[in-house]
Amino acid sequence: MSDHTLAAKAIQWYDENARDLPWRRPGAGAWAILVSEVMLQQTPVARVLPVWEEWLARWPTPAALAADTPAEAIRVWGRLGYPRRALRLHECAVALVARHDGEVPADVEVLLALPGIGAYTARAVAAFAYGKREPVVDTNVRRMVARAVIGAPDAGPATTAADLVATASLLPAEPALAARASAAFMELGALVCVARAPRCPACPLVSTCAWRLAGAPPPEGPTRRPQQYAGTDRQVRGLLMAVLREAHGPVHRSRLDLVWADDVQRGRALAGLVADGLVEPAGQDPDRFILAGDHGIAP
Ligand code: SF4
Repeated sequence: MSDHTLAAKAIQWYDENARDLPWRRPGAGAWAILVSEVMLQQTPVARVLPVWEEWLARWPTPAALAADTPAEAIRVWGRLGYPRRALRLHECAVALVARHDGEVPADVEVLLALPGIGAYTARAVAAFAYGKREPVVDTNVRRMVARAVIGAPDAGPATTAADLVATASLLPAEPALAARASAAFMELGALVCVARAPRCPACPLVSTCAWRLAGAPPPEGPTRRPQQYAGTDRQVRGLLMAVLREAHGPVHRSRLDLVWADDVQRGRALAGLVADGLVEPAGQDPDRFILAGDHGIAP
């Protein structure tokens, strides 16, 4: 099977099986797609959907978000996790207004120069918003390519340049078709060629998959354990952020003390939030805190 036959099979499967997601609908627009791509990193679709809808209803353009405070972006982000992404999206909106008249650029190099836009997001926006022929490589695509093309049980350590070249070689020459193939690869990796137990009987690539043809060898080495959440600094940060999001004004340290008993861990989590720019002291008082940029609200 030629590489482009692989793409053709994936596209046909995608046309029949893709999930109907609002950011994929015609006319969604580059800003809506950019926001979805940032939110979907490390976060399942079901959790992203309501936050994406609220975000786009409130800030349908980069200019609308740039005119609001970072604190409001963090509030709407809610419990989506990794809230630095909300801060980076706000910074990105400000940069889009300052440098690009509030429009999302189509060129990968220009996109890469924006705050919070990395190799994956830049190419996803170029492909899905502007129909460009760009390899879009997330964890799911790397795994699917490793199995279907290379015959490995899983993707090796990320080597961005090599991954981009390997995936680009699978894309049809015509840009719009290449963009559709990229979407199809991502969907296949997310729904069928999943990490633990790939659903090979439902896969359009099953008859030619290199890993299957090699007898489906198991991965070597220990299986990676899922990340723990309970008891981590990440959990403490989440609890502190929940109090600050709901407060709509300065919060005294004594209120934050209630969320976690361990003084050292709580202090470390709060210091981390301040260092990340998500939280800041309220004025001159070192014992009261607000979300980033949440000024002008009476205590
Ligand atoms: S046949 Fe199985 S392992 Fe191969 S690409 Fe499809 S789902 Fe993945």
